[in-house]
Amino acid sequence: MQKYKLACFDVDGTLIDNVKFSWQVFHDYFQTDSHRREDARNRFFNGEISYLQWAEHDIGLWEEKGAKKEDFFKAISSLRLMPGALETLKELKKNGLKLAIISGSLNIVLEKFIPNYNEFFDDVFLSRIYFDENGKIAKVEATEFDIEKKADALKMIAKREKISLKECVFVGDYLNDIKVMEEAGLGIAFNCQHEEVKKAADVVIEKKDLREILPHIINKFKY
Ligand SMILES: [Mg+2]
Repeated sequence: MQKYKLACFDVDGTLIDNVKFSWQVFHDYFQTDSHRREDARNRFFNGEISYLQWAEHDIGLWEEKGAKKEDFFKAISSLRLMPGALETLKELKKNGLKLAIISGSLNIVLEKFIPNYNEFFDDVFLSRIYFDENGKIAKVEATEFDIEKKADALKMIAKREKISLKECVFVGDYLNDIKVMEEAGLGIAFNCQHEEVKKAADVVIEKKDLREILPHIINKFKY
């Protein structure tokens, strides 16, 4: 029997390399107003607006710039899939683990680098942008499950699957992963530059190859 039954992943900086926040990548690309961005960010962290309102505000800034689907893909052309990512997902799945994404990133990023992500992941929590036939933003579904609430998503999946939190793994790189890492039975800090995150994790992986997490999750794993 495997000790762990569910492995959850962050996206930006964890499954995808060369990026800390994909939202920032799009803001830079579309050259949105940094003051308005900062203002919305502050209002969120002061508790004046919800995460959803913050996300919708920022996506609104892209809409104002006439952002099209093709532009979003151009914006992320310098990003890349984390070394070993696909091999790791395949191996975990082969060993019977359920997989999930719990991320504040955008569907565009995941779709570009793992187009068949639905084959790997049983649950996908992230923000989604949908485009119309002209490539304009048609609909937005922002996730609520970022930062502290990543832990809520983990608990929801675990409860539904009747898995104890001790049997759950979370792999992430940044401060918004601390809470969920603490809740999961095994928190793995990967590609991580922050001491607070490393401290919250049970395991810290320094080598930038996602396969390095496998021996910590799968019994007697050899590769
Ligand atoms: Mg991240």
